[in-house]
Amino acid sequence: MNIAVKTTVAAEATAILERLGVDKAAYTGGDMKAFSPITGEQTGSLKTVSAEEASAAIERADAAFRVWRLVPAPKRGELVRLFGEELRAAKADLGRLVSIEAGKIPSEGLGEVQEMIDICDFAVGLSRQLYGLTIATERPGHRMMETWHPLGVIGIISAFNFPVAVWAWNAALALVCGNSVVWKPSEKTPLTALAAQAVLDRALKRFGDAPEGLSQLLIGDRAIGEVLVDHPKVPLVSATGSTRMGRDVGPRLARRFARAILELGGNNGGIVCPSADLDMALRAIAFGAMGTAGQRCTTLRRLFVHDSIYDQLVPRLKKAYASVSVGNPLEGSALVGPLIDKLAFDAMQKALSEAKAHGGAVHGGERVETGSADAYYVKPALVEMPAHTGPVLEETFAPILYVLKYSDFDAVLADHNAVGAGLSSSIFTLDMREAERFLAADGSDCGIANVNIGTSGAEIGGAFGGEKETGGGRESGSDAWRAYMRRATNTINYSKSLPLAQGVSFDID
Ligand code: NAD
Repeated sequence: MNIAVKTTVAAEATAILERLGVDKAAYTGGDMKAFSPITGEQTGSLKTVSAEEASAAIERADAAFRVWRLVPAPKRGELVRLFGEELRAAKADLGRLVSIEAGKIPSEGLGEVQEMIDICDFAVGLSRQLYGLTIATERPGHRMMETWHPLGVIGIISAFNFPVAVWAWNAALALVCGNSVVWKPSEKTPLTALAAQAVLDRALKRFGDAPEGLSQLLIGDRAIGEVLVDHPKVPLVSATGSTRMGRDVGPRLARRFARAILELGGNNGGIVCPSADLDMALRAIAFGAMGTAGQRCTTLRRLFVHDSIYDQLVPRLKKAYASVSVGNPLEGSALVGPLIDKLAFDAMQKALSEAKAHGGAVHGGERVETGSADAYYVKPALVEMPAHTGPVLEETFAPILYVLKYSDFDAVLADHNAVGAGLSSSIFTLDMREAERFLAADGSDCGIANVNIGTSGAEIGGAFGGEKETGGGRESGSDAWRAYMRRATNTINYSKSLPLAQGVSFDID
């Protein structure tokens, strides 16, 4: 199959960066090349920081933190409110740049910026709600309470597939919580990082008296990420990426007793039960598995279909897979854009070969030629598997949906949970017992468990993250903010005596 792809994205990326006020020196003449997966063309060459420069940036952020932590939280919220305003003004440009650099279709590029706006709104409200508990004490004339204090420099390491939203999730909360922020974005999406930082810089300028160095960007590869991970002045690192990355970052942080928010790989499952609304399930599965070209951490990768409805649902799914439009996300009506790079394409082909070796029947998965040797478009693959084995057990960051038949609900729940990752999950059923069981203690073991909704497309209001090899971190909504602050338990004695807890006596003359 062939599709034509225009080669104009580099010029457009430059125009967007200029409009957003990014200094040209930041993305020309440097040593790190940026590419667009849409055409494979180079879009910039960025200056990277050295390890010494990264350390100096962290020191500056630490100095900024010492000032910012004393600014009243609602005033800190005002900075984030301004950031939200600037994001609204920049939404079209930034969303387009996300599409150019990550290959997302326009509504998803814009949706990513909308997530940034949403978390700003959330964080502004939060800036007046950073509350602690008052707790009953056992001693008369005493009061006990919790106070929440700013933590320090928050290190953020982000992945290519949500090149700016993940940073904003962390940065908006960190800033209202009184922290400074140092961000190491993915080396595959550095231009969007420059652009997003420029948008925040506008808000900082309007805010006026924020300390210099409050939010900093480190352009570099994983070695620069390691500087953040190992630096003693970074008490929390929020790292989003592969489980491989987390296996390295987690123990390094633990060694120096730093906190970690690890947001790692997913191998997300969905169960379609006999009573399911199949029209609804079909749409949710199609978006969950093929959307973003299978490059969401929450992408649906394993589908368990009850044998009584398998022959109704799976042929319809195959038809949707065969007819989905693959192509340049910036032109026409393509729903599936490119893979990020050749490595992703090779990993997909390897997984498909392994699936065949395990008895899988592969539909789709072949490369779609564009005339550019460096752009990797594929037909999404639907793979009917005889058993829950082989590549099904691992996340392959590409549009592969493994489909399995089941007959017993307990057995399918066990298979569903029998993978390393534990990010997102969903069940399609109109049977209340099945739905509730899926959400119960012995149901899905994931951080996200949905009913009659796909695995991907979370809202910012809930805490986001997963269990097991997904890392256990939570960010975004609910009470995720607590990870960005330190808790102090305070006991105040306003009586005239000094009773000891637990009735201990220690009387001195
Ligand atoms: P990746 O692990 O290759 O890179 C992610 C980031 O980590 C990059 O900025 C990279 O430079 C940095 N990094 C890598 N090794 C490091 C190390 N040892 N020390 C410090 N920094 C290091 O991931 P990717 O290919 O960019 O993204 C895809 C992966 O991310 C998938 O596995 C996906 O499921 C996962 N992801 C998870 C979430 C989530 O919220 N759970 C969200 C998005 C992506």
